[in-house]
Amino acid sequence: MSDSIPLGTITQEAKPCQLHPQSMCPAFGSLRVLTRIEGSHPVMATDTGCLYGLTFVTHFYGARKSILAPQLGTAELMAGQVVEGTRAAIEVAAKEPGCQLIPVVSLCVAETAGLPEEMLPKKIGNAEVVLVRVPAYAIHSHPEAKDVALAALLKRLGNATAPKEKKTLALLGEVFPADPLAIDGLLRQMGVEATITLPGRSVDDLRRAGHVGALAPLHPFYKETTAVFRSWSIPIVGGAPVGISGSYAWLKAVGSLLDLDPKLVNDVAEGERARAEAMLKAQPLSGRIFVTGYEGTELAYARLLVEAGAEVPYVSTSIGQDPLVLPDEMWLRARGTKEIVYRKSLEEDVAALDKYPPDVVLGTTPFCAIAKERGIPAMYFTNQLASRPFFLSTGMAATLGFINQTMKGHERYQWMQSFFEGEAVDA
Ligand code: SF4
Repeated sequence: MSDSIPLGTITQEAKPCQLHPQSMCPAFGSLRVLTRIEGSHPVMATDTGCLYGLTFVTHFYGARKSILAPQLGTAELMAGQVVEGTRAAIEVAAKEPGCQLIPVVSLCVAETAGLPEEMLPKKIGNAEVVLVRVPAYAIHSHPEAKDVALAALLKRLGNATAPKEKKTLALLGEVFPADPLAIDGLLRQMGVEATITLPGRSVDDLRRAGHVGALAPLHPFYKETTAVFRSWSIPIVGGAPVGISGSYAWLKAVGSLLDLDPKLVNDVAEGERARAEAMLKAQPLSGRIFVTGYEGTELAYARLLVEAGAEVPYVSTSIGQDPLVLPDEMWLRARGTKEIVYRKSLEEDVAALDKYPPDVVLGTTPFCAIAKERGIPAMYFTNQLASRPFFLSTGMAATLGFINQTMKGHERYQWMQSFFEGEAVDA
């Protein structure tokens, strides 16, 4: 008699199902960055199916411009019209008023069918044409697609041969608009002459990027972009201005790399540390919090919460492990974080709910829904956290104020759970 196992039962029983998509289409990250640049008119090389969803998200996030795309259905793909259709769309994009940049975003289908760069123009009229390859089978999260898009633009537009603006700093990361203003204000007190924020709205900032004195990645997933700056011999500031110790160390590192007056830098760093300490004293945190999201910034948020007094046993993110994230990972592990999951799945997040029952969850929409069903206060990471200041003491105040408020909602969430289970007696 055969020992064969029936089909469908093979060795999967003990593992949770991980077949569901865990994130939006990663290409969205690149489109978000590319559509927001003034004078940029992206062309998307993909099949018609992707276009529906990606056009929707682009409008949803307020770029206020349409993506141009060739009509690529089955017939056109079978006929090998990817290059032809893309070239035609580039010509239309170039006629848009004020067009300076045409990023060609090549996605799953076009990449599979083949879109050779040499078959596309490098320039048309006044517009640079830049190919950005972000198929989901190679780029696994939307934060990382932002990195690929920005690196492609910088390789084409950045000019590292012009004289350096030695006291200028490039801030790297898509952040809440008040954050770069607060950072710039403080840095100018230390003697920094200018900051530019990437990815931003200005093509000129992309051209200036090659002249800066140093690069400061605020988010830890811009590895290709960081490599471009390294290739220009521009030094990289480690860490980010997050929390008390993180901000202090970051300000000192900027001062040292830009060769600023040490006394001035020290005064500003000490002043900022004193403000952050006072703020933390005014609204300390306690309780157990999960930080789970797909923005790629989860470890930095966890770090701030731990510094403020919370216990964060579990952190998960959609980005892959990388040396840029390592300092935050080590910092968290040394302070009691038990699990840090990269390329996480919803199922791993849910399993952690049983292992370390939290008081508050910061997470993705489906994970927050599951936490709420259990009566646990839960907030959507992207909309609630990424939409408020985060850096330096001002960002710390905004973020911790919000978390403290959420912690107070515990009874209300438990009442809701009872209500939906038919046990609530009064409101
Ligand atoms: S096929 Fe690829 S590019 Fe198109 S929507 Fe799906 S993941 Fe995105």
